[in-house]
Amino acid sequence: MATPTKHALLSASSSSRWLKCTASPRFEEQFDESTSQYAEEGRLAHEVCEQLAAYNFGSITKRTYNTRINKMKKDPLWQDEMIKTAEFYGQYLWEKSMSYKEKPYVTQEVQVDYSDYVPGGFGTCDCVMIGGDTLHITDYKHGKGVEVSAECNSQMRLYALGALKHYSIIYGDAIKKVAMAIVQPRITENVSEETITVEELKAWGESIKPTAQIAFAGTGEFQPGSWCRFCRGKAQCRARSENFTALEDFKEALIEGKMTPPDVESYEQAVCLDADVPPVLSDEEIADLLIRGKDLMKWYEDIQAYALEALLAGKDILGWKVVAGRSNRAFTDADKAVAAVIAAGYDEAVVYEKKAKSLSELEKLMGKKDFAEKIGTFITKPVGKPTLVEQSDKREPYNPAVADFAGATQ
Ligand code: SF4
Repeated sequence: MATPTKHALLSASSSSRWLKCTASPRFEEQFDESTSQYAEEGRLAHEVCEQLAAYNFGSITKRTYNTRINKMKKDPLWQDEMIKTAEFYGQYLWEKSMSYKEKPYVTQEVQVDYSDYVPGGFGTCDCVMIGGDTLHITDYKHGKGVEVSAECNSQMRLYALGALKHYSIIYGDAIKKVAMAIVQPRITENVSEETITVEELKAWGESIKPTAQIAFAGTGEFQPGSWCRFCRGKAQCRARSENFTALEDFKEALIEGKMTPPDVESYEQAVCLDADVPPVLSDEEIADLLIRGKDLMKWYEDIQAYALEALLAGKDILGWKVVAGRSNRAFTDADKAVAAVIAAGYDEAVVYEKKAKSLSELEKLMGKKDFAEKIGTFITKPVGKPTLVEQSDKREPYNPAVADFAGATQ
């Protein structure tokens, strides 16, 4: 899967951002596009997926597949895990293709054009499958940071609009439904899917047209939010910084109509002057501030990273400098150092420490089945420490009774 070197200004992958912050695409233009090790690893993992799927669907021979994979293994970013994640992706596509009544048309790396809805919009679909009345597109994501849902996903819908246009020349009106899937094997074995009708997809495309035109023209407004995370201007954006630097803004955290008096000029005033505003934050306010504080910490990390890079590049950031962080002593040659200790008269028994391998290392050594059979009875998994997460987190709520019981059996 060759990653296109040039991206559309209004790319599908950044659509969740520019649909919210319409100023971001033109604002980002002044900052260099940079790649990260994670992005490069993702590119390589995509290529592995593409080759494996091509082999599964008979487009290339086993020999060609092996030659290409062996070449990729020489890449310094190669990880054996990429074969496993590609197999998961390939298996999903294969099972999906088998679910059609008749063998579907399957192709990869399709360049699509969604500019009928978004000015200058184009992108690449990882896999397109067409069978019966359904067009199915799949996107592979190698990241393991954030789980992405296919439901109401603007990136997938823009790709789908482009794919629909691409194949309408051949299929005409035969396609009635569009299915979109996101495979993210490093986070979950559940493939996120959404199926909508062609009419619903086109209506959604029409609904975003005005926003896309504003974003393209550069006449939009800055709108900070969680979507700032992947914006190239995230460290230097004034709108984002003002979101965190003005105390005034914190009055917005108050429950509307309940706490904020209409005529006060600042939250400080509200707290000091208005008897209706209690000095103690309510739990509803705490819930809101937890979200705002999370974004604030992310923003602070972003400006720290920017300042470090700027100072290392020779710029001045008034009042700040770069120092060497703490480091630990290490042997330049551990074997020779230990030999010297023994030569100095210390017994080997006190110099060496006999230590068993970790649970994970032993499982790797024995294999899951043998490990479970032979030593499964010696393993316990205590309930983890209570951890605060958002309601949308998929884990079961913490149960103190279960935690107490788990502790009692150890
Ligand atoms: S950092 Fe956030 S507010 Fe600023 S341009 Fe980017 S997306 Fe918009």
